[in-house]
Amino acid sequence: MDKSTDLIYAIARLSYFYKHESCGQCTPCREGTGWLWRMMTRMVRGAACVEEIDMLLDVTKEIEGHTICAHGDAAAWPIQGLIRHFRPMMEERILQYRKQAA
Ligand code: SF4
Repeated sequence: MDKSTDLIYAIARLSYFYKHESCGQCTPCREGTGWLWRMMTRMVRGAACVEEIDMLLDVTKEIEGHTICAHGDAAAWPIQGLIRHFRPMMEERILQYRKQAA
């Protein structure tokens, strides 16, 4: 990755990987990784509310530490890092989407 990389898209692609690779044995991972991927797909386009960023963070916290292997944590952490370090970028994307939709 370099500075031209769309970080929201990159993390959404990771979310797809974790959703796809979940073995389905524990519910937070089986259901949560799908939630994360669907929400991240909307975040890539900006088709979301700013408040949903915190909802997305909450979903990661429901998965982190509540699964029997590290796959759940691994799915949660990239999104937590994105929100921690690039929340303004996510908010800007949402605002841009709303401007274009208006
Ligand atoms: S956390 Fe591990 S064991 Fe649980 S569903 Fe995900 S991949 Fe399977």
